[in-house]
Amino acid sequence: MTPPNSERLDRLLSMNASDPLTTSEIDALALGDTKPIIICDVDEVIFHFLGGLEQHLAQQQCWLDPASFALTGNIRHRSTNEPVSKERVGELLFGFFDDYAHLLKPIDGARQVLQTLAETCDIVLLTNLPRTYLEPRKQNLCAEGFDYPLVINSGAKGHAVARINQYGGRPTFFLDDSPANIHSVAEIAPETILIHFMQDERFRKVMPDMPQTALQAENWLQTSTFIENSIRQQANSG
Ligand SMILES: [Mg+2]
Repeated sequence: MTPPNSERLDRLLSMNASDPLTTSEIDALALGDTKPIIICDVDEVIFHFLGGLEQHLAQQQCWLDPASFALTGNIRHRSTNEPVSKERVGELLFGFFDDYAHLLKPIDGARQVLQTLAETCDIVLLTNLPRTYLEPRKQNLCAEGFDYPLVINSGAKGHAVARINQYGGRPTFFLDDSPANIHSVAEIAPETILIHFMQDERFRKVMPDMPQTALQAENWLQTSTFIENSIRQQANSG
């Protein structure tokens, strides 16, 4: 494996340490050193997260207002339309993971596209999830045909992406629905090819501009066409 150049090494060493468990999961990935890497979020990119969450919220007499891409402030009581407290948002999310973490359903095209890309790329799933739900989430992913290495992260994903691609030198794609994660990866791992994936039309309308992205995708067909073309172009130019 090629050692990182000095600029990359300085950047890696100057990073704030991310969660040591996340780091050790990444270091255990044993990725090859030649294939392109696809680093893919899970919730709302592979799995329908919002739909399940909204079902859960309805059972709890609440609803999600798609006024902006945030849960706090947008989860409202059905009776008063007032936002629930930050503490209640946390309770509702944990309740959702308890009831649904093992039952989420894939977004159209995700399974087939990743299966095809896996023939020529390394796939890594990078998700923000309380570790308590790791096993049910893994079972859910495997049962739905996403048996790829899974890394659990917390907070913005830039450091984890930089660590996954610490040796550089090959196309690395990052897919996520969260603008905060897109910004973080753009800042900390700027060589990454960024795909903002948002299949929910209501939330697409309230997204901020993300000029760092190479693609703002609405579905997996667009995503696969873009990735395959990018890999082909890079191979031809290299
Ligand atoms: Mg997500």
